[in-house]
Amino acid sequence: MGKLYFRYGAMGSSKTANALMVRYNYIEKGQNCILLKPGIENRDGEKVVRSRMGLEAECTFVEEFLDEVVNEWFTRKSDAWKKLDCVLVDEAQFLTEEQVDLLAEVVDRYDLPVICYGLRTDFTSHLFTGSKRLMEIANYIEEVPTVCWCGRRAHFNARVCNGKIVRDGEQIMMGGNESYVSVCRRHFLSGEVNGVRERDIQE
Ligand SMILES: [Zn+2]
Repeated sequence: MGKLYFRYGAMGSSKTANALMVRYNYIEKGQNCILLKPGIENRDGEKVVRSRMGLEAECTFVEEFLDEVVNEWFTRKSDAWKKLDCVLVDEAQFLTEEQVDLLAEVVDRYDLPVICYGLRTDFTSHLFTGSKRLMEIANYIEEVPTVCWCGRRAHFNARVCNGKIVRDGEQIMMGGNESYVSVCRRHFLSGEVNGVRERDIQE
């Protein structure tokens, strides 16, 4: 049945690998599945979704997909999208509010599942635009868990530069020297992003 899903997690929670596995399951059953990502995420012009584990698949930009779908709503020239069984969206935090609303309309018009994967919050611990809208209107909101270095659930994405947490800057930083570490709230607030687990100290 058509439902809008938001599966969120911190960096390193295997969201992309999860999306690629779902895609594989649909294809294996002979069903049609389209994989999307926002064009803003397009650092290198590639239409590829790649997981850290090395799994990858070709994708379409969300903008292109929505242009075609919305165009069809007005022209009724094509029914290609009605043959889809599932829509998967990676990096959904970068969606605009309007894009999330249109994806919800795709769900309702075609009775299609649309499954969005993305980060909940940015490096300052505030919701991304796409994630906020998904939290507001998705049918199902599910966490893809990952852990902090201390073993607690990691819900925060710390931006790290030269081993220290960075708390100011642009929300989307591309091509910088910064990296991201997923940490629990305690270690996000304390800034201990590269700590040693307490039990390792005791041993
Ligand atoms: Zn921690």
